[in-house]
Amino acid sequence: MSLEKPFFGGNWKMNHGPTAARRFVGEFVERYPARDDRTVAFFPPSISVTEFRDAAAERPDLELGVQDVYWEEAGAFTGSISAPLAKDAGARYALAGHSERRHVFGDSDEDVARKVESIAAAELIPVLCVGERLEERDRGDVEAVVSRQLEAGLGRLSSEQIVNMVIAYEPVWAIGTGRTASAEDANEVHALIRGLLGERLDRVSVRGIPIIYGGSVKPANVDELLAEAEIDGVLVGGASLDPVDFARICQAA
Ligand code: PEP
Repeated sequence: MSLEKPFFGGNWKMNHGPTAARRFVGEFVERYPARDDRTVAFFPPSISVTEFRDAAAERPDLELGVQDVYWEEAGAFTGSISAPLAKDAGARYALAGHSERRHVFGDSDEDVARKVESIAAAELIPVLCVGERLEERDRGDVEAVVSRQLEAGLGRLSSEQIVNMVIAYEPVWAIGTGRTASAEDANEVHALIRGLLGERLDRVSVRGIPIIYGGSVKPANVDELLAEAEIDGVLVGGASLDPVDFARICQAA
C-alpha cells in the first residue's frame, strides 16, 4: 500500500433493497467503529442509496456511491440515473466500467469514457474499473487490455480531474468466482496502471490516486493484497453483503 488511507469499497450489485440496506447498516456500525485512517464507501443499488444515507446519518465516515450512471444529466432515459441525480441522493462516488456493465450490458470503452466524464463534471469521484478477461490473460494481453481501457476511460478528463479519481483493477476472471489474482500478479498490473497515469501526471499526483483491487476479496485474503506496495485498497462484491465479513475487511491494514 502506498497511500496513507486505504480505500475499502463495498459493491452490493443488485442486492440489498431498502429494507436489507437499513438492517445492514445497523449491524455494520456495531462492528465497525468510525476510523479516520481509511475510507469506507458503499455502492448499494440506486434504489437503496437514500435509505442507506438516512440509516447511516450518524456515521458520516461511511461514504456512498452508485454503481453506474448514464452520461446525460436528465431527460427521457427510462430506467437510468445520472451523476447529478446520484449526487442529490448523497453519493460521493460513482463506478464506471464495472465488468458486469461492460460484459453483461455491453458498455463500450466510449460509453465508459462518457460516463466518467459526466461523473467528474458533476463533481463526484469516478471509480474507473478496468480488467482483462481470462482468455485475454491467457493470450498475454493483460497490458494491452488494461492500457486500452484506462486510456479510453481517462480520455476526456483534465489532469485536475484525473487526480480526483479512483482506479479499480478487477480481472474479470476473479470477480464473483472465488478465484483471486495472486497478490504479486495484481501488484504488477497496479504498477502498470500507475506507470500509465504517470504519463499524464507528475509523480506526486500519481501517488495520491488510489489504485484498488477487486476480485473475490474476503477477510482471508485482504491482508496479503494490501501488503503489496501498489495496492491501495479493495473493491469488494460478494463479501461486502455480509456486515460481519465486510467489517473485518474494513479493519485490515
Ligand atoms: C466487484 O463486484 O467489483 C467484485 C470484485 O466482486 P467479488 O468481490 O464478488 O468478486
